[in-house]
Amino acid sequence: MEEAPVYSFASGQSALPADLLEMVQADVKGWRQSGSSVLALPFTCHDAREILHETETGIRQLLCVPDEYDVLFLQGGAYAQFGILALNFGNPNRLGAYVQTGHWSDRAANEAKPWMRVHCAAQGDGTRLPSPDEWDVPPRATYCHYTSNESAEGLQFKAVPRIAAVPLITDMTADFLTRPMPVRNLGLLYASSQKNLGIAGMTIVVAARAFLERCGDHVPAPFHYRR
Ligand SMILES: *Cc1c(COP(=O)(O)O)cnc(C)c1O
Repeated sequence: MEEAPVYSFASGQSALPADLLEMVQADVKGWRQSGSSVLALPFTCHDAREILHETETGIRQLLCVPDEYDVLFLQGGAYAQFGILALNFGNPNRLGAYVQTGHWSDRAANEAKPWMRVHCAAQGDGTRLPSPDEWDVPPRATYCHYTSNESAEGLQFKAVPRIAAVPLITDMTADFLTRPMPVRNLGLLYASSQKNLGIAGMTIVVAARAFLERCGDHVPAPFHYRR
């Protein structure tokens, strides 16, 4: 008798389909005609580049990412990205506006504090989301950050807000690829892989190339959005 699949509705790892797990199993044993496990492919080889290219193409198609946006695959989860984001764009004179609606956006704001001045653009009460009309976003802010789905509180913005004055950044970890997103309304979005996409260990960043021009030069290369 086939075992019933186990679904977890707690936040955490996403369930992966059985046929995908079988594909992964086969690829770990041997990647296509390469004679090597997918885990042992040199990152400079054609097969590894193909895997990256196919993955990027898939994301670009699914999210309708405009050509003038970069797609980056970075190590670490979204929690790591909270600090890396502010490290890239911050300096002691720059201001980051943070819409603080719960557990994850509070953490994002706290992790930004060593790298830039942080302004609370709106404070949620854990039961409702402050409407974008109520956000206090200083026009001189380098960006405005919000969390599109606060998974701890169960609060989700139904639409991407329109903020004309400054680039909008969203932590889309908990609703990445669940619906079409107007990427053009955003300066940058990021989502760690384990909630909606696959296994832990990677975060996808999609960013307007023009906005990335504003990254500082002091960031270690592996964490720099433009290197
Ligand atoms: C889970 C979650 C995170 C943390 O992601 P990690 O990859 O575990 O660091 C960040 N933001 C949101 C909205 C989340 O749901």
